[in-house]
Amino acid sequence: MFDIQEIRSQFTILNREVNGKPLVYLDNAATSQKPNSVLEVWNQYYTDLNANVHRGIHTLSQLATEEMELSRRKIQKFINAKHDFEVIFTKGTTEGLNLIAYILTQKLKKDDEIIISYLEHHSNIVPWQLLCERTGAKLRVIPIDENGILQLDYLDQFLSEKTKVVSVNQVSNALGIVNPIEEIIAKTRKNSNAYVVIDGAQSAPHFTIDVQKLNCDFFVFSGHKMYAPMGTGILYGKQEILEELPPFHGGGEMIATCSFDGTTYAGLPFKYEAGTPNVGGNIALGAAVDFMEKIGRQNIQNHENALLEYAQRKLLELENIKIYGEKAKRTGVVSFNLVGVGISSDVGMILDKMGIAVRTGHHCTQPIMNFFNIAGTVRASFAVYNTFEEIDKLVEGVKKAQKMLG
Ligand SMILES: *Cc1c(COP(=O)(O)O)cnc(C)c1O
Repeated sequence: MFDIQEIRSQFTILNREVNGKPLVYLDNAATSQKPNSVLEVWNQYYTDLNANVHRGIHTLSQLATEEMELSRRKIQKFINAKHDFEVIFTKGTTEGLNLIAYILTQKLKKDDEIIISYLEHHSNIVPWQLLCERTGAKLRVIPIDENGILQLDYLDQFLSEKTKVVSVNQVSNALGIVNPIEEIIAKTRKNSNAYVVIDGAQSAPHFTIDVQKLNCDFFVFSGHKMYAPMGTGILYGKQEILEELPPFHGGGEMIATCSFDGTTYAGLPFKYEAGTPNVGGNIALGAAVDFMEKIGRQNIQNHENALLEYAQRKLLELENIKIYGEKAKRTGVVSFNLVGVGISSDVGMILDKMGIAVRTGHHCTQPIMNFFNIAGTVRASFAVYNTFEEIDKLVEGVKKAQKMLG
């Protein structure tokens, strides 16, 4: 049933060569490739349907609106939101997190606390630091152990009536560690009234997501890491919370009435969707959801987990390899260094000569790098179209790098 060649045939870019070698694309945690079905929907929007949404009574405007709202309902199902209007289109995880931090400003005061973790992407750190600057609140950071695993006894210590926000990722982009967000949410609910924010940028491409079961207040992710175009993303928020909080951007489409005496805001989701949205991209995000559902998210996850297990086993057969988070529960990512040999970017350049695309450096997670006292890692990250042969090529490349740099 799971036909990897059939899946690969949907990605034209996978046929290309890089530096005279077949492309081996292992940088999926940075962005995934897009299947033809997504590109076709995007292209078709601009060739056949292009019009602004929610504005015109003319036919194209109505068709474009219907397509975008259909996509919203697909995403609602994809994350099991209770209502489609709890699904807000954004341009990505970064925008979603900044939006949340901004609209919570009036809810925080001096000496309140925001809890994040050591494993966060810069985009789940900096917006909270900015919120602290605006309000006088303080940031508390759940530490990790030498395996990269969150030390949840610190969460127990940190949680109090001062805690106003707990924001963590479900999967770490730098190490691929799967965080126990169910437990984090349960502890938070029990010991505080904090808003719970989940950064799902690295989990939405791999896992089945159920925001109702999770009982989080917000869940954000990017389209481009799950087979959709860049400049697309989703902010999920619970109805009562989104209704109560103020808007983020002001402008067209987000008002009910607007006059110089004052403005009243539109209902959800439009209150948070000021201005002309990325209509073609948002429709294509629905097509990316269709692509994933057609394969089956459990099948995607099983395949990626098998790739990860294989990659880790093969890499550890080599000598002098350090895998970060080796003993932690992980998905989709193997992050490593060659002990005593060169820096990660040297390894990355040698791999690139062999057509193998990996990410090197700090992966927008400098605190993790500081914790391990390194400048960066080599990160190979997997998607549904990757193969075991590609991992063999990666391991060959790493061997070659060891020889050349050793
Ligand atoms: C990529 C990523 C982000 C930022 O996403 P953008 O698409 O760049 O806005 C945030 N958090 C995690 C865990 C990520 O992997």
